[in-house]
Amino acid sequence: MNDNESDVMVSKGLWPTIAETRHFTPCTLSMPAAKRKPSASAQPSSNSKRADKLAKLGLRTPMDLALHLPLRYEDETHILSIREAGFMAGGTPQVEGVVSACEVQYRPRRQLVVTIADDSSQLVLRFLNFYGSQIKQLAEGTRVRVRGELRHGFFGAEMVHPSYKIINAGAPLPTALTPVYPAGEGLSQTFLRKAIADAMDQIDWRDTLPDHVRTSLDLMPFEPAVRLLHNPPPDVDEHALMERQHPAWIRMKFDELLAQQLSLKRAQAARRAKGAIPLPLIGSLSTALLHALPFTLTAAQQRVLAEIRHDLRAPYPMQRLLQGDVGSGKTVVAALAAAQAIDSGYQAALMAPTEILAEQHFRKIAAWLTPLGIDIAWLTGSLKKKEKTDALNRIASGQARLIVGTHALIQESVAFAHPGLVIVDEQHRFGVEQRLALRNKGLALADSATTTVPHQLMMSATPIPRTLAMTYYADLEVSVIDELPPGRTPIITRLIDQERRDEVIDRMHAAALEGRQTYWVCPLIEESEALQLQTATDTHAALCAALPDLHIGLVHGRLKPAEKKAVMDDFIRGATHVLVATTVIEVGVDVPNASLMVIEHAERFGLSQLHQLRGRVGRGTAASVCLLLYQSPLGQVAKERLATMRETTDGFTIARRDLEIRGPGEFLGARQSGQAMLRFANLETDQWLVEKARDIAQALLHDDPETVDAHLLRWLGGREEYLRV
Ligand code: ADP
Ligand code: MG
Repeated sequence: MNDNESDVMVSKGLWPTIAETRHFTPCTLSMPAAKRKPSASAQPSSNSKRADKLAKLGLRTPMDLALHLPLRYEDETHILSIREAGFMAGGTPQVEGVVSACEVQYRPRRQLVVTIADDSSQLVLRFLNFYGSQIKQLAEGTRVRVRGELRHGFFGAEMVHPSYKIINAGAPLPTALTPVYPAGEGLSQTFLRKAIADAMDQIDWRDTLPDHVRTSLDLMPFEPAVRLLHNPPPDVDEHALMERQHPAWIRMKFDELLAQQLSLKRAQAARRAKGAIPLPLIGSLSTALLHALPFTLTAAQQRVLAEIRHDLRAPYPMQRLLQGDVGSGKTVVAALAAAQAIDSGYQAALMAPTEILAEQHFRKIAAWLTPLGIDIAWLTGSLKKKEKTDALNRIASGQARLIVGTHALIQESVAFAHPGLVIVDEQHRFGVEQRLALRNKGLALADSATTTVPHQLMMSATPIPRTLAMTYYADLEVSVIDELPPGRTPIITRLIDQERRDEVIDRMHAAALEGRQTYWVCPLIEESEALQLQTATDTHAALCAALPDLHIGLVHGRLKPAEKKAVMDDFIRGATHVLVATTVIEVGVDVPNASLMVIEHAERFGLSQLHQLRGRVGRGTAASVCLLLYQSPLGQVAKERLATMRETTDGFTIARRDLEIRGPGEFLGARQSGQAMLRFANLETDQWLVEKARDIAQALLHDDPETVDAHLLRWLGGREEYLRV
């Protein structure tokens, strides 16, 4: 293998040796082999670009690299003739040929077009993005092995962006499956393979699981499992490997789940050890608030309130999730919890993910508590300097007993006089960083004399399936409001082809004349906020033109807070018939008189998003209708989603379907949390492993703290805190 080849040609069975890969070795791993000590700890990083790119993937230490396991495997053990490949339906065949032409074309757009031929036929390779070096690399006469999806284009068989390698005639085929790694931009598979192979020579392979644990669960030892996954032997059970059911995968999944359980349980213990100020008094404010409410609590609200009241009395911090479907009445429960903190002489804070929602809470809770003599501070990023200073002063002096706001609440400049309780609405809507900040703020809020931390109540309309509750939320207590307040009329949901939009507008017009109000939700355009804004503005203009006799408002994320407030106020007062909105109205907005919801291009929304949006209606006594406009033809996933929306309004059923359709990662909004996600275990199919991991974690924490430390270090390194937010 010459040097040039070694860059492109690495296959299983032909692993490069360390000597060959030396010049590719990333700097974190670049100590000379002789001086390396086996060690799993991080090594000083230089400024190598590749090291940076690896770091972006979270790969900093040799162990990180060793645990960067293949996403999938490709079977490169066979070569088809180009003719045979042309008959194959689907799949990604591998063919081999010699380049007969290589040229850059400029129409319809700039692209590199390479023609290769074997004895049977020829094949065009198209590269829409390419480097100049590829033109030389793929010069006429070069022999290449190519793998990709084969299409029959206008000029015959072609592959667009196939993977390829330059080879010599007669180069042996791999004898086993080829791993394919998750790769970031600018990191080739070849490079990753070499970096991983090199890393595997540097790590401490000691098994972190005690023998008795391994044997009791019949788990494969660590080192052979990792090595097998990176370099499967020819006789491996390919199906089990691909499906991630091979014992080597099971071992990885178990280790990963165990690390997660250990981390969560440790966090829980640490929090308990901190202690909190007991908030035992259910005094005059709590009583007065209950009396002042225009309704009585549902049985479910009473039950969860009792659970919260009980927790607040404890000398260690409550960590409770209040879960209740959209419209189930979580706000009043939060207000009553706050009242208990205030009755006990402490402050309560209520934080919401959007300004609109925080504003609503403020308005509603102020209407309840201000007449009872409670000073409530309002805090968002958009306050004028003077207003902000005033709010901060009242918070710091203790005059403000309740503080309502957005994540401005967790900024450094905010100092509470007597923090007792922090309530977070729609907590899963906050980004990971904010959740982390909140937790640290909670710690910073700790009363320095007693080193206690505030109690925490989180609220969410998104129900958590059992497996998730056992993993991500393992350290939370959960209260569920499983009943809606009486007198709600069910929402009728209809799916309507976007072509009938005009009829929908007529219907909305008629409804407005009867005094009903409508939300008109504009299509989601994920790629571009600007485009989304444009669409909302256009829709608003078009509806205004079509219905000149109606008042039509527009609300979107780019409005200034004061403008937003004015628009929402008009709608709440009933001065606007129709509110054209982007998804800013998705969470929490509560206008009981609105009874018609139109969602354009509903097929672009996720299930939980549709459920949240629909939950904005059906809050009053009028029968509510939700019209989901869709663009046909619908894809399979969209079809399933919309059918679910038509069939049920039950948040639990919808969440379960959502989990099935999307998988738990997105469901949690945890896509953004990167490292926090389970990489290997699948909460749906590996439930039994979750349960085993939980039990073993319990036992290890109890009698083997050294194992716990070693295991956590190996699997989480410095990323542990992200798992717990
Ligand atoms: P969510 O759980 O979605 O946050 P809210 O707290 O906004 O729901 O409550 C939805 C609506 O139901 C509000 O207008 C609220 O005042 C009202 N509500 C709450 N509890 C009751 C109850 N027990 N009886 C009647 N209405 C209630
Ligand atoms: Mg709410």
